[in-house]
Amino acid sequence: MFFLYYHTIIFKVMSIYKANHKNILLAADEIKRGGLVGFPTETVYGLGADGMNSTAVAKIFETKNRPTFNPLILHINSVEQLDNIAQINSPKTNVLINNFWPGPLTLVLKKKECVPDIVTAGNDTVAVRMPANNTALELIYRAGTPIAAPSANVFGKLSPTTAFHVEEQLGNKIDVILDGGKCKVGVESTILKISENEVILLRPGGLSIEKIETALNEKVIRENISEEIISPGLLKSHYAPEIPIRFIDDINLDDYTNQNVGALLFDRNSYNFDFKEIKYLSKNGQLREAAANLFVYLHEFENANLDLIVCEKINPEGLGNAIMDRLKKAVNKYS
Ligand code: AMP
Ligand code: MG
Repeated sequence: MFFLYYHTIIFKVMSIYKANHKNILLAADEIKRGGLVGFPTETVYGLGADGMNSTAVAKIFETKNRPTFNPLILHINSVEQLDNIAQINSPKTNVLINNFWPGPLTLVLKKKECVPDIVTAGNDTVAVRMPANNTALELIYRAGTPIAAPSANVFGKLSPTTAFHVEEQLGNKIDVILDGGKCKVGVESTILKISENEVILLRPGGLSIEKIETALNEKVIRENISEEIISPGLLKSHYAPEIPIRFIDDINLDDYTNQNVGALLFDRNSYNFDFKEIKYLSKNGQLREAAANLFVYLHEFENANLDLIVCEKINPEGLGNAIMDRLKKAVNKYS
């Protein structure tokens, strides 16, 4: 009896699995089911989810306890996969891919329609990388989908470079951590934004700028780098809708009776007002679903011929924090 109990505890507490073929298949199943997996890359350990499943991606933010939505990197295992999610807008992209993938280089490219808004935090660009780690590559291949993954740490704590670091921080929240040993590079990837004419360094990292400049035979633009951009998650250009957005509580709805007002409500409508359109973040009151819908609905409202979007304040707990952060930033733009 005691033995059984003891075993259950050990089983529950440890989520670490040696990164062999069998366990990679198990982890891939977890990803396909919409679950989270801790996995090694050459930079740091990632907290991965199916990058095409917005509710699974919302779980990443919930699990990391991030108070903000930052755009995530999609990890791929082949150049064909890149074609499905991003536009290769310059021959320079090919040069960089040929020279440095797989490796610690992330490319920010124009995204294709299928990439969920929560992955890019509403931006029309997506960050993509092919990691130089066989476990990561096989996991992506077996899952059959790009894997969205930030570092597998709790918000504000150090990035993990061993499976044990992941276990310490997130072991009680995720079921599968693949142990592929210590990360070879140990720092985050270098991030480049490639537009038609220029290549801009968004974050210095595991691949040196000198190597990049030699391969491209041109200078990479660095002057745009500010503390703000270097700190992960603090992007300068945050997505905000093109139409004014206000919190319902901060205005008097009666002042807007003659206008086309769209309402972004949480789970029900308790207002006595003739909204032109209403969107519910989650009819079942689920924060995960609300997070997955947030950017999609803001985008849809932009195309709905409205004068104003009004939104409800969300209880800032768990994922509610990140949702409120996003709404506040959008509202601030117009007040
Ligand atoms: P990481 O911290 O390694 O997970 O990398 C995520 C970081 O990549 C974000 O915090 C951003 O700084 C950057 N990033 C991801 N997607 C984009 C994007 N679409 N545009 C600009 N930067 C991005
Ligand atoms: Mg991180």
